[in-house]
Amino acid sequence: MRICQSDPDAGYWQRADSIGAGGDFITAPEISQVFGELIGLWCAVVWRSMGRPASLRLIELGPGRGTLMRDALRAGGAVPGFLDATTVHLIEASAPLRELQQQAFPPPLWGSDREGGIAEHWPSGFPPPLSPPHKGEGKRPPIAWHERLDTVPDGPAIVVANEFLDALPIRQVVSVDGSWRERVVETDAQGALRFATGLRLDLQVEGPGPRPAPGAILELRAGEDEVLAELARRQAPQGALFIDYGPAEATYGDTLQAVHRHAWVDPLSLPGCADVTAHVRFASLARKARAAGLAADGPITQAEFLGRLGIAERAARLMAANPGRAGEIETGVERLLSPTGMGELFKAMAVRSTTLPPPPPFV
Ligand code: SAH
Repeated sequence: MRICQSDPDAGYWQRADSIGAGGDFITAPEISQVFGELIGLWCAVVWRSMGRPASLRLIELGPGRGTLMRDALRAGGAVPGFLDATTVHLIEASAPLRELQQQAFPPPLWGSDREGGIAEHWPSGFPPPLSPPHKGEGKRPPIAWHERLDTVPDGPAIVVANEFLDALPIRQVVSVDGSWRERVVETDAQGALRFATGLRLDLQVEGPGPRPAPGAILELRAGEDEVLAELARRQAPQGALFIDYGPAEATYGDTLQAVHRHAWVDPLSLPGCADVTAHVRFASLARKARAAGLAADGPITQAEFLGRLGIAERAARLMAANPGRAGEIETGVERLLSPTGMGELFKAMAVRSTTLPPPPPFV
C-alpha cells in the first residue's frame, strides 16, 4: 500500500488527476460547496471556544484539490477576527496535488460569491455569533505547505481531515491457530501479485473481541497513532475533525479497496494507478486518541453531523440565491446525506485537548 502510493516514479501520488469527475474518485467538498462552508464555520466556532487566540494554525491533512479549504475560508470569513488570526497549513504528500492546491488559492479570492452568504444567514446548528457576522471582504490568510504535520509551528491549532486517514497505509494481520500472522503480498510463478499468509507477529494487538475466529483479519494503521501523538504533543488547545468512511464500532474484516476511474478494481491489479485505501475504524481511533491523552467526540454519521449543523437551511439559502443552480445544489446535498450515498458510511469524529469543550454538533 505504501509503495503503491509513494514510489517516486510509479506511485499514485505522482498523478494529479486522481480526484474529481475526470479522475478516479469524488469527495464531499467536490460534490457541494456547503460541505466546506459548514466545516469552515465549525473551525471558527472551535476557535471561539478556545478563547479566540490571536494566532491560530488552521491545518488540513490531505487537502486534495484545495476545495474544502477554499470554501471553509470563505465561510469562516463571516466570523469577525477569525481570518485575521489564521495561518493555513496544508499537509500534502503529493507534488502534483500541491500544485493544484496552489492554483486553488488565487490572490484576490474573498470578495466574490456573496449571494446566500453565511453573513446573511447564520446556520442554526452553531452557537449564536457573539458579534454580528460580517462578509470578511478581501481577506486571505497566509498559506504554507508541509509534507508532514510535525513541521507546523506549535500553538493553538485546528486540524481538518476529510478522506485522509483512509489513505494511510494499513497492515493486515490474520488469526491463525490462536496467533496473529501478517497478511502479505507475494508473486506467483507467473509474476502476478497475490495475497499470502506471512510470518507470525510478536505484536501486541488489541482486537474487537477477546477471541477472533480462525481466519479473522484485523487492520492496523500506525499512521493514525502518529497523527494522534503529534496532536497530543502540541501545546493545547488543539481541535481536530476527522471525516471518513468506516464503521463506528470495532470490527474484524478485510476492507482494503481500490478505485480507478470511478470503478472498484482488485487492489492488486493496478499498482500505482488505482487509489488504494481501507476503512477507518472509528472505535479504535477514539480509543487511541484517549490513550494519547486527548478527548474524542463521536463518531456520528456524516448525515447527522451535517444535518445538525444546519445543512438544509444553508442549502435552501444558497438555492434561493442561485435559482439557476438549485437542482445541482439539491442533488449534491442529497448525495452527502443519503444512506445510499455518503450519509451513513461516512462518519465524523472530533478529537481535542481535554481542556476544550465538546464542539458542535457533538454537544
Ligand atoms: N481531502 C481531500 C482529498 C482526499 S484524497 C478531499 O476531500 O477532496 C487524500 C489526500 O491525502 C490527497 O490529497 C493525498 O495526496 C493526501 N495524502 C495521502 N496520504 C498522505 C500522507 N501520508 N501525507 C500527506 N498527504 C497525504
